[in-house]
Amino acid sequence: MTIYDTKPGIIQKCQICNSKNIYEILDLGHSGLCDSLLTEKGINNPEKSYPLKLLKCKKCHLLQLNYVVDNKEVFHLDYPYKSGITKTLKDLLHSTSKYCIDNFKFSKKPLVIDIGSNDGTLLEGFKKNGFKVLGVEPTNIAKLANKKGIKTIQKYFDKNTANFIKKKFNKAEVITGTNIFAHINKLDTLMKGVKNLLNTKNGIFVTESHYAVNILNEMQFDSIYHEHLRFYLLKPLILLLKKYGFKVIDAVKIPNYAGSIRVTATLNNKMTQKKSVQNILKEEKKNGFYNYKIYDQYSKKVKKIKNDLNKMLWKLKFKKKKIVGVGCPGRSITLLAYCNITNQLIDYVAEQSSSLKLNMFTPTTHIKIIDEKNMIKKQPDYALILSWHYGKSVIKNLKKKGYKGKFIIPLPTPKIVN
Ligand SMILES: [Zn+2]
Repeated sequence: MTIYDTKPGIIQKCQICNSKNIYEILDLGHSGLCDSLLTEKGINNPEKSYPLKLLKCKKCHLLQLNYVVDNKEVFHLDYPYKSGITKTLKDLLHSTSKYCIDNFKFSKKPLVIDIGSNDGTLLEGFKKNGFKVLGVEPTNIAKLANKKGIKTIQKYFDKNTANFIKKKFNKAEVITGTNIFAHINKLDTLMKGVKNLLNTKNGIFVTESHYAVNILNEMQFDSIYHEHLRFYLLKPLILLLKKYGFKVIDAVKIPNYAGSIRVTATLNNKMTQKKSVQNILKEEKKNGFYNYKIYDQYSKKVKKIKNDLNKMLWKLKFKKKKIVGVGCPGRSITLLAYCNITNQLIDYVAEQSSSLKLNMFTPTTHIKIIDEKNMIKKQPDYALILSWHYGKSVIKNLKKKGYKGKFIIPLPTPKIVN
């Protein structure tokens, strides 16, 4: 067994195949943690930042960060991300239950466990359809989930948690996890826990991971931050699952988080594999994702975007235009820090009134996060869309709310739109 639990610090070998043959694709400098926002007082204090490089394994094609920050520091108790914050996100998370129900057979009132369940939005979809649901979530968002009736254990998913669940709730017919293969530093513990809890007859393990092909093709380097330790093509995901006796039976590309891959695996070897799995593997190979060239081109393009976007903003600034940011997803922290977009360029970042991030400041770049309502009042000249992956719906919403200025879409190519 070569898969190991990474410890905080520098990564020197591949986390799936153990190869030391890993090379650097991209150096995004140093960045603060994207969900550890600063208070007004905090911006005058010394600040922690961590190296942020993207590495690739030559052997199994896993993409990973060069540095692991302790999960307890990244997913701290006051982690401010709520998955059900917008209707779009809610609908995407409910698509997981729809997929399971449409494609697989279950007993009466089966148990589904969601690892890293956040505010319970994904599980709501299952609950509506008669499933028994259980969430596992280490941060205080677990309390929110429990309040709205989604039973959630506030703990990290480790051996003890898995044993506790098995004793109290028995095995699950569905285990889900969105982005867990990216988030959790203890891959070995995660896989053993899932294996321990999944029904071996008809149980399915459904994971959704940000798909490396989208990150590369669509220049989504802003999704590289310390919460995401690894980025996956289908090939290394299959290898990871296989090492623990899982057979991958389906793979589907889904729109979540600007392009994810939903991979379904089982411990029952008799379940048949859908054609989609081999089709996606062939496509990855054909399009060059197992070769060096595509990564080299990516790195060059990212550097060009940094330069172009920064220049575009300074040009407007010299014309005395007011520029603000809109939306403050985790990924905005990388984009702002890497492209040197600080509080000298951007007056503030506007977030919706229900956001847990209001009145805080972005790490590294120190931009204040304010209520969107104030932005509509102030009518700045330009709005830089930091949730550009939902760009169309963000623009539509802002116009509906009365914003009359122009928009800047930063990626994949920086551009201004009316
Ligand atoms: Zn590898």
